[in-house]
Order: sequence, then structure tokens, then C-alpha cells
Amino acid sequence: MVMTTEEADEIKEHLLKQLDNFPEDKRNDLKKKINSMNEEEIENFVQQNNLKHLGGQCIFCEIFSGKKSSIKVAENNLSIAILELNPLSKGHILIVPKEHSNTLLDPIDDMANQISNKLKEKFNPIEVRRNELEIMGHKLLEVIPIYGGESVRHTATNEELVRLKEELLSPPKSSDIKGLINNPRIPKFPPRIP
Ligand SMILES: [Zn+2]
Repeated sequence: MVMTTEEADEIKEHLLKQLDNFPEDKRNDLKKKINSMNEEEIENFVQQNNLKHLGGQCIFCEIFSGKKSSIKVAENNLSIAILELNPLSKGHILIVPKEHSNTLLDPIDDMANQISNKLKEKFNPIEVRRNELEIMGHKLLEVIPIYGGESVRHTATNEELVRLKEELLSPPKSSDIKGLINNPRIPKFPPRIP
């Protein structure tokens, strides 16, 4: 997830402000270095140095505060599930705790299980993988359906994401229910003979 130029600029500004605490000789070198970084380098720098909450710049906290939009597919009092904007596969979802923390709380598993089951029911993947991530000090969990052959992420269009949300949240089709009734694995009781 590469940040926008705007976000990178805000972080740069924040980093440059921090330089006031550095000795004069080091300050100028660091200033040059920070100013020359592109978005990706800034993001890596932030991740490598485990910089937390740069003046409220955490993208996930911005989602909770309403500063940034997201496509939400589930929510409870502890976390939300949102669609990944650069998915590896159809149904790639991020489960984000509402609290900015570098540790994952157990209750997040409930939502992860709920989402995994939904993905299995709707899209029939081979498996659903989970992967812990930490972005700008905010720990979260990725839930990724695997259909086989996934290798690169792509940038999803807004229409694609909206359609995916609809598909994911739609009630089961009547054909699914019929399939279940006619499922030979469900034992039928013999007709009652009086
Ligand atoms: Zn955060």
C-alpha cells in the first residue's frame, strides 16, 4: 500500500520538525535525505523505524475519525473489516482494531472467523489465509482467500469494490438453499408409516 504524495509530504513535514532535536551537523544531512525521499521510501522509512502515530497520520486511525474513506463490510465495537484497495485476490479484506496498538487483541479472531466463513460460503476459495501486519504502528490482520495462482496485487476500481461488497453481504440465493435441501449428504427421514 503506497501512500499518496500528500500523505508523504505530511510525514516529511513532521519528520523535519523532529530534526530540531538533532545536533546541527547531523540535522542538515538528514534534512537533505528526508527531502529527497519519494512516497515509497518514506513509507519504508516509517515502517523500518516503527514510527508510531506521526501526528495522527495513521491511515487506519484516519478511517475511524472519518478523515479517510473506506469500504466497510463488517464492524463491531472492537474492530472493522474493510476491503483492501490493492487486493491479491477477490475478497482480500483487512480487519483493523479500532485501538491504535502494536499488539493484536484476541477478540479480533471472532471477526476474522466470521469473515473467513463468509468468504468460503460466497467465493469457494481453496483456503483463506491470515496474515498479521503492522502499518505505521497499527497492527491489523489480513484475510486473503486463495484460489490458486495468485501472484501480484492489482489496484481495484471503486466499482469492483462496491460490487464485491454487495456480493459478500447479499443473502444466500434461493438456488443455494435448494441445493442444500437436495443435498444427498443430508439424511432424509423415511416416511412415517402409521
Ligand atoms: Zn492507528
